[in-house]
Amino acid sequence: MSMKLHAPLSSRGNENKMEVDIVILGGWVLTLDNAKTTYNPGFVAIKDHYIVDAGFSTAYCASKYNPKTIIDATNCLVMPGLINTHTHAAMTLFRGYADDMPLKEWLFDHIFPAEAKHVNESLVYQGTRLAIAEMLKNGITTFCDGYFFCSAVAEAVSECGIRAVVGQGILDYPTPDTQDPSSNYTTAVKFIEKYHRFSDRVYPSIFCHSPYTCSDETLIRMKELCASAGVLFQIHLSETENEASEFEGEKNTRPTFHLKNLGILDSRTLVAHAVWLNEEEIQVLKESGAGVSHVVSSNMKLAAGVAPLPKYLETGINVGIGTDGCASNNRLDLLRDMDLTAKVHKVWSADPTVVPAFSVVEMATRRGAAAIGLGKKTGSIEKGKLADLIVLSMEAPHLAPVYDPYSHLVYCAKGSDVRDVIVNGKIVVRERQILSFDEMEVMEKVSEVSSRIKNSQIRVGESK
Ligand SMILES: [Zn+2]
Repeated sequence: MSMKLHAPLSSRGNENKMEVDIVILGGWVLTLDNAKTTYNPGFVAIKDHYIVDAGFSTAYCASKYNPKTIIDATNCLVMPGLINTHTHAAMTLFRGYADDMPLKEWLFDHIFPAEAKHVNESLVYQGTRLAIAEMLKNGITTFCDGYFFCSAVAEAVSECGIRAVVGQGILDYPTPDTQDPSSNYTTAVKFIEKYHRFSDRVYPSIFCHSPYTCSDETLIRMKELCASAGVLFQIHLSETENEASEFEGEKNTRPTFHLKNLGILDSRTLVAHAVWLNEEEIQVLKESGAGVSHVVSSNMKLAAGVAPLPKYLETGINVGIGTDGCASNNRLDLLRDMDLTAKVHKVWSADPTVVPAFSVVEMATRRGAAAIGLGKKTGSIEKGKLADLIVLSMEAPHLAPVYDPYSHLVYCAKGSDVRDVIVNGKIVVRERQILSFDEMEVMEKVSEVSSRIKNSQIRVGESK
């Protein structure tokens, strides 16, 4: 912890002060920088899109900055916004659609058919806006997505004020936005070209569904496209034991080795799930520099297994936490998934010392940002980084008393404790009210779309 107190620079009037947009004053600031610096009580100064300063709340802040807006963070934690490293945002519209069944049956008998029937540009737009409303209110300032009709995802992200890596979903099957898989490449190129410089909060990406739904040729072409455009390549990897062993039976190699041999794995690749990797595969992953999204809640709900997270942390792999889509979680509340992450590995290894609270907070912020290729831009409170921050109120009974803020974030806090959210230097949630768009309008539109989905479910039942 840095104990250096800033000396006042000037006691004169405002003419000597730096004009800034926002100062967050008086909270317990957890910077999540490399030195684990905290300031209590602290301040953060924001100008345009960036953090320009952070430190202890002393006369220094008052003497140096002339803010347009002051956020009083007394009795609050101030920290980097949470990074959701894996989701399919529009699937909020399938929340609770099919539960309590094995992954294969869930995916092939329920989710894929429902997507084929209902998913269109409008559903993706409405579902993504619902997801953004939920995520922002739960303190998520960046999410990493993979789905279809990605223009609608990008538009929703741009309008709603959140930050996102938006991955165009690719499978060698007809998908909701690409009936003929031979046009996948054109779809991907067009998407990247259109959204490359579209918004400073939208990062286009390619999301190949998995090594078992994409041919080697597809994987190679898509990775080459990502490399030439300098964008993130995403893929589901070894989510279930069956998937990994069937793949090995067919290809005579483990999925991770296969991806390595195809040239897929490098520091601009994110693998989601990564549950069934052996020691050698973990080494390959580490050497490649690829990031991992730990999708703990979805893995538990679909009984996919428990990923070797303690090994990932030990080897220094960049690993973040992902919620997955709402059909397999069914909430986009990273604070809840942080609690699950800390606990499932303790019970699984019968060792209460593994995956400690601080590591989990790092995964949900700095390490998660690095895993999705945004480590230099967001994930910590440091001068020059983008101003993506959250303020959590610590005044509720379930958060008192406070000895260790990291412990509280993992074991006590809930999404609903998030009070204010700033993305890209703009206040998008204030006192739990979304300012960047009309939440009620989103809820009304969602109600219309979900009625159509519900009615068609009933008709299927009646025709039997
Ligand atoms: Zn997924």
